[in-house]
Amino acid sequence: HAKKMGRGVTSFYEVEMDEKIKTAIRMEHDLRHAIDRNELKLFFQPIVDIRTEEIYGAETLLRWHHSSGKMISPADFIPVAEESKLIHQIGRWVIKEACRKIGEWSEKGRLPIRYVSINLSSKQLAHGSFFDETMAAIRDSGIDPKCIKFEITESVLMDESEQTQKIISRFNREGIGFLIDDFGTGYSSLSYLKRFKFESIKIDKSFIHDILSDEDDVALVRAILDIAKQFDYRVIAEGVESEAQRKKLEEMDRNMFYQGYLFSKPLDADRFAKMLKGET
Ligand code: C2E
Ligand code: MG
Ligand code: MG
Ligand code: MG
Repeated sequence: HAKKMGRGVTSFYEVEMDEKIKTAIRMEHDLRHAIDRNELKLFFQPIVDIRTEEIYGAETLLRWHHSSGKMISPADFIPVAEESKLIHQIGRWVIKEACRKIGEWSEKGRLPIRYVSINLSSKQLAHGSFFDETMAAIRDSGIDPKCIKFEITESVLMDESEQTQKIISRFNREGIGFLIDDFGTGYSSLSYLKRFKFESIKIDKSFIHDILSDEDDVALVRAILDIAKQFDYRVIAEGVESEAQRKKLEEMDRNMFYQGYLFSKPLDADRFAKMLKGET
């Protein structure tokens, strides 16, 4: 703690904060140019049937190849993008690029999988022109809007819920469904389940990680499966890394889907396209 340090003395706390702020400012500066410099790339991770491991959908995951050669995780730069409003520009790019890829992968207007999901931050959804801009981008790309789904976390549903509800309904009318991401990790009431219509619930990987050893996680996953059944939602388990975890989940619900390293890590667009064609 920085209290009672006397004049001229800088606490470790202050030095550390200073470094954090500097890093964030530097990152924001670099991020501002990342799109123009082609440093952002989309990766895609298959979402598969838990029993047959057939590819059902895919999640779009953003990657930043920084000019220093480092790969920066979205977990680190998305918060900076949100803070600086760059999230809107980045988000528009993600949607446009995902539509372009969907167009490439489609044959005679048909995508070989059900959908490609795109993560949205709460800031994007709250932006006044988000709906119109997004629909314009999708129409311009010529793809079927039904190929797209959006992933939002529970926290998004908590703030400005009336406005959010309206926008979600407008997208739903265009055939664009929503998935609840990281389900069970937000500090939220479940009342939003009554107010919104969702496509799927994604069980956060923190509940899957110890599913073979932790009975509490088993109980939580069972509870989530029950909720999903009541509301008629599909369920996707995130972070499935081993065959034993897959099997355990299949025993709990054979109609579930999963996403995880066991089937595939997120792949760049070319490798994902090859996987779709069955070439890998
Ligand atoms: P998320 O949406 O919950 O994405 C799932 C994360 O789990 C991804 O991390 C993915 O690479 C990782 N993952 C998948 N399978 C496994 C597994 O078997 N084991 C483990 N340990 N991890 C697995 P990633 O790609 O680092 O993305 C982190 C977060 O960044 C995402 O979490 C999402 O919240 C955010 N994000 C990614 N792309 C975008 C984007 O385009 N826009 C926005 N707003 N956020 C994004
Ligand atoms: Mg997600
Ligand atoms: Mg998630
Ligand atoms: Mg997440």
